[in-house]
Amino acid sequence: MEELTEQMQNLRSKATELFIREEWKDSIEAYSHFITLSTQNQTPSDPDQLQKLHKSLCIAFCNRAEARFKLGYPYALECFRTALVDSQAGGNSEMLNGYVEKCKKFEFLSRTGSIDLSDWVASGFQGKAPELAEHIGPVQIRKSEISGRGMFATKNIDAGSLILVTKAIAMERSILGGKDLSEDAQLVMWKNFIDKVVDFIRKCPKTRDLIGKLSSGEDEEGLEVPDIDIFRPESLENMESIGEIDMGKLFAILDVNSLTEDAVSANVLRKNNDCYGVGLWLLPSFINHSCCANVRRLHVGDYLIVHASKDLKAGEEITLSYFDPLCPLHKRREMSMTWGIHCKCKRCVFEEEMFLKQEIKEIEIGLERGMECGGVVYKLEEHMKRWNVRGKGKAYLRASFWSAYSEAYSSDRCMKRWGRRIPAFDALIDSIIDVVGGDHRLLKILMEELKKNGGGFVEMEKALKLAREVYGKVVKKKAMRTLLELCIGA
Ligand SMILES: [Zn+2]
Repeated sequence: MEELTEQMQNLRSKATELFIREEWKDSIEAYSHFITLSTQNQTPSDPDQLQKLHKSLCIAFCNRAEARFKLGYPYALECFRTALVDSQAGGNSEMLNGYVEKCKKFEFLSRTGSIDLSDWVASGFQGKAPELAEHIGPVQIRKSEISGRGMFATKNIDAGSLILVTKAIAMERSILGGKDLSEDAQLVMWKNFIDKVVDFIRKCPKTRDLIGKLSSGEDEEGLEVPDIDIFRPESLENMESIGEIDMGKLFAILDVNSLTEDAVSANVLRKNNDCYGVGLWLLPSFINHSCCANVRRLHVGDYLIVHASKDLKAGEEITLSYFDPLCPLHKRREMSMTWGIHCKCKRCVFEEEMFLKQEIKEIEIGLERGMECGGVVYKLEEHMKRWNVRGKGKAYLRASFWSAYSEAYSSDRCMKRWGRRIPAFDALIDSIIDVVGGDHRLLKILMEELKKNGGGFVEMEKALKLAREVYGKVVKKKAMRTLLELCIGA
């Protein structure tokens, strides 16, 4: 213990000296080392010693944040600044302890990616969205067979686990007022958004460098593969780079990578849902599209949480649905045009063959002409039996004709007529989840079914599991039920 104290004192002096000499990068490293040592070791039992340690820690956190800011790294500074003022004003020990606890919690959240929004959800999203900590899970960026670069799991990841927690570089929101945004309003929104991005990168060269790593839609195959570590908040890479912003390239990058909150694979947690936001998040921009995606997005304030919507294996590419996966091939092809992609996922390849069949074409036409949904489902299931389409193939087609299935299973009249001749509800839902992962519409219909038939413990557990795949593990069990009430009225 004695030795360690001396080591810590030396570290602290060295860090402070570097800080005073304005050697920001080295002082950050020294302070980080000091913080790690002081927070990992046993806390002194002597209250005087504890007070001293907390004061040193407090100054270390503040100076480190200040040094990061000097290097153009504004994240999380506000919280540190408040505390700095408090500590300089000779803040009392309770305040100091509270502050140190807050910093430690922040570091813990960032390291583990554990989030608990239970209280906020239980309050019905009252007040401001909670401040989260940036987190990067077990993932890396690599060359992808889908297109250019992609994000890959480096470990097995359970469904519902958080993979990325990341704050927007900039976000802009518009109130919808019950209707779609007019073209003018969209232009204003886009202009404000771009202004915010430009403003941010003028202040922060590191962010400008990182944005420069994103795709501008050209020469996807020739792009360098960045090390994921440079996106970590504590990364000191590229902090002193200089150079001007190439506005043409920036526009192209924003055009390709900006995300809107109203996407089908995104959920937004907030009180008033009558608004619409666009934003830029760095790491999520590396995630490619698939019609059988394995992650979803959850928006909490300016934070974007990416979580697994299926169990993921180490080495597997992480994919997101850029557009609705619960519709047929040609509809998906249409939607993918706006993204400038031509999806070659297993499902698209399989369906390309299937949708050539006359029988499938007839089903599509029948649906468009308002043929009874139960009949459509029955026909499709019978054809699949005859063609010996099983497992994933069957699930792909079921997902494609989801509109017919959901209507059939929600209608009592339809179920009376076709119920015995079409697959059981549970088996159907399981097979679709198996290919598209957690989806809020599957969850909604499952909850409705539960209500109708008064499901027991097993059924409820199944619904909660699906809820974690849709929203991620962000709340405790009890709050998850509140979340379901608030989000899908179930
Ligand atoms: Zn596809």
